[in-house]
Amino acid sequence: MNLNKLYKVLEGQPKYRIQQAKDAIFKKLASNWSEASNISKDFKEKLNKECPLEIDGQIFASRDAKTTKALITLADGLQIETVMLSHKDGRHTVCVSTQVGCSLACTFCATGKMGLKRNLEVEEMLQQVLFFSRILKEEDKRVSNVVVMGMGEPFLNYDNTIKAIKYLNEDLGIGARHISISTSGVLNGIDKLANEKMQVNLAISLHAPNDRLRNELMPINKRFPMKDLFKAVDKYIIKTGRRVMFEYLMIKGINDSPEQAKELAELMKKPLYMVNLIAYNPTDVYKASDKNAIEDFRKVLEQEGVGVTQRYSFGQDIDAACGQLANKKNCK
Ligand code: SAH
Ligand code: SF4
Repeated sequence: MNLNKLYKVLEGQPKYRIQQAKDAIFKKLASNWSEASNISKDFKEKLNKECPLEIDGQIFASRDAKTTKALITLADGLQIETVMLSHKDGRHTVCVSTQVGCSLACTFCATGKMGLKRNLEVEEMLQQVLFFSRILKEEDKRVSNVVVMGMGEPFLNYDNTIKAIKYLNEDLGIGARHISISTSGVLNGIDKLANEKMQVNLAISLHAPNDRLRNELMPINKRFPMKDLFKAVDKYIIKTGRRVMFEYLMIKGINDSPEQAKELAELMKKPLYMVNLIAYNPTDVYKASDKNAIEDFRKVLEQEGVGVTQRYSFGQDIDAACGQLANKKNCK
């Protein structure tokens, strides 16, 4: 799928043609233009030739059936991963990548190890959701939530990410409140998002309770230290009135002590600040915190009055965290 080519083919056509094409992509969830209604046969053929709808994806299902991972091969042969999490309550969340690789080199992250290959185009982000939408359609189900938490830093591909989110919201019908963007703390992205008038959720990858440790784990912290990060978040909250989720990976022996929990609590004691503790998907560098350590950490935060949620790691058997599968492939 190539949206630029599509709009080129549709140039000069009446407006309703564009809507018909969009309906075929986002409502019918067609994987071939022949499935589109109200479009002449000749025109369908032209569309199939100029901007085919097929998506080259390979599925990996997790043993627990809650996680399905797809490896999507792009037109230039690079591969990206996308994960769908199926929840007990019937929701289906797709985790979208925004870049092939990432330039920010966080030490705990498999994507960071790849370096940046390139930004993704709008349609390459959409494909990741459409791929699962098409599969779910067969069972009369739909993608209900999107988290922009796959490979890459969304705010270093800001314009394409926002455009993709607009399509997901306006054309695919995913509620803005059901869409979350996670950033490692690219400050001008936070500022820009505050001005978008979109009801999407903002998450910040924090992972450390002080600059010393965060500098070590996330080199971006040297450019945008925590004081400035919180300033940007506070401005965002004043502007939008929306909650902000701080993600905190639980990495064994690195950031999971009760003292560090106390230090984190001091930073998080603000209205509309929330902490999400995330089970670490082990890499060859770090291990996941023990269950007890996570429990104790959580208790400290709660005792200090901080809002905490906990996310268990999905699909460890298929490497369903940030960049792990695609990284293995792209590095071979
Ligand atoms: N670049 C953005 C968005 C992509 S990363 C960001 O950093 O926020 C999405 C989330 O996956 C981040 O919170 C990241 O810290 C987390 N992550 C990275 N490696 C992980 C691992 N091995 N296990 C679990 N989560 C991981
Ligand atoms: Fe990039 Fe996010 Fe991974 Fe850091 S955690 S390397 S910012 S994808």
